[in-house]
Amino acid sequence: MKNWAGIVTFQDSHTYSPATVEELASLVAKESKIRARGSAHCFNAIADTNSVSVTLENMPQDIVIDKDRAIVSVPAGMKYGTLAIALHERGWAIHNMASLPHISVAGAIATATHGSGVGNGNLATAVRGLQVVLPDGNVKEITSEDPDFSGYVVGLGLVGIVTTVDLAIEPTFNIEQTVYRGMSRETYAANIDEIMSLAYSVSYFTTWAAAGGGEVWAKFRSGNKAPSGLFEAYPATSNRHPLPGLNPEPCTEQMALSGPWHLRLPHFKMEFTPSAGDEIQSEFFVDRKDAPAAIAALEKIAPQINEILWVTEIRAIAADNLWMSPHYQRDSIGIHFTWKKVDAVYEMVKVVEAVLAPFKYRPHLGKVFSASPEHFKSVMPKVSDFTKLLTQLDPTNKFGNSFTDNLLGR
Ligand SMILES: Cc1cc2nc3c(=O)[nH]c(=O)nc-3n(C[C@H](O)[C@H](O)[C@H](O)COP(=O)(O)OP(=O)(O)OC[C@H]3O[C@@H](n4cnc5c(N)ncnc54)[C@H](O)[C@@H]3O)c2cc1C
Repeated sequence: MKNWAGIVTFQDSHTYSPATVEELASLVAKESKIRARGSAHCFNAIADTNSVSVTLENMPQDIVIDKDRAIVSVPAGMKYGTLAIALHERGWAIHNMASLPHISVAGAIATATHGSGVGNGNLATAVRGLQVVLPDGNVKEITSEDPDFSGYVVGLGLVGIVTTVDLAIEPTFNIEQTVYRGMSRETYAANIDEIMSLAYSVSYFTTWAAAGGGEVWAKFRSGNKAPSGLFEAYPATSNRHPLPGLNPEPCTEQMALSGPWHLRLPHFKMEFTPSAGDEIQSEFFVDRKDAPAAIAALEKIAPQINEILWVTEIRAIAADNLWMSPHYQRDSIGIHFTWKKVDAVYEMVKVVEAVLAPFKYRPHLGKVFSASPEHFKSVMPKVSDFTKLLTQLDPTNKFGNSFTDNLLGR
């Protein structure tokens, strides 16, 4: 089996798909090495293992809503798109979504998957509790009162097999999406705070071409109207695809047409292949205040980037307190690259990282990066606390794989 992009061939000898927590717990107790897998959308080997893997797609798929506490308990393997429909039908919403609804809840929070919005934390910031199967097969409930709660949430698949995730919810809301065309990178970088604060969720797409600028995708909560212009940019008069020239049919409704949050916050519809399909992704986070300088530094290698790029997306993510989140205590700007599926990407990623090193970039854990463990440790202040927690929870490293061993030096 391969990952979604077809660039990682999973090495596991067997994949289990247990139907109950009890069945999962006895598997975990029996195996000496085991790793959970979600919907396999990561672009690196984080979900791989050379032992056995486990997916939770055969577990019961019911959600439970606690209206008084505004919390939903979600089966860990459920896809965000499925969860969103079930929540909206019952009058509820989560605060944000990634660009695609196809990914599993546990897999997404394990890598701090994010959407956009200066006031929106990544998807893991909605977590209020977890149920995990520990290496000995015991089942543990972790609540936000647990002193190590912030260490468990973005767990990289290492804190146990997550079976249930409790997420904060709010009453359902509507979004209106407007795309502004003709925004140059110069204007964007010079006014980044104002532009990223324009709407509830804002993305800027560019190709790094010398001329041609980019597009601002602004998702307004209903009641907040889109302005008729944005600096030199103007509202699109028909639906757009983030990748220049592609048919917009797979994309969520635009043109300021009001509709439920889950049908506007992702860029792509559940029933279509998201993005280009034939691609590799990487993303690097810098402090929001450093973003204009980071973009200016990347301008120097723009022609090189552009040779193998589909599109870049720039998003804002609010700071959080989750130990392994790349947005830990730092209001962040994510500079994302959707690369063409060519080998040159791996060398290009090193070039981009070298340019962003002075800005203490933090890599997206589910995308392609080459950062050394030393760089990772130097920019992620809670790595030592996380590895200490892992030593207590999983002294034999039952849940680890080569990717996490390299990254954390275990
Ligand atoms: C087209 C496309 C668009 C994307 N857009 C975005 C985006 O907008 N924003 C963004 O941040 N990322 C984005 N990504 C990246 C992707 O969403 C994340 O990397 C996410 O982690 C993938 O989730 P998954 O369910 O596929 O997890 P997998 O890739 O299957 O696994 C990821 C990690 O989660 C762990 N895991 C999975 N299930 C469990 C469990 N039950 N218990 C414990 N650990 C578990 C695995 O061990 C692994 O470490 C995109 C990817 C693609 C392909």
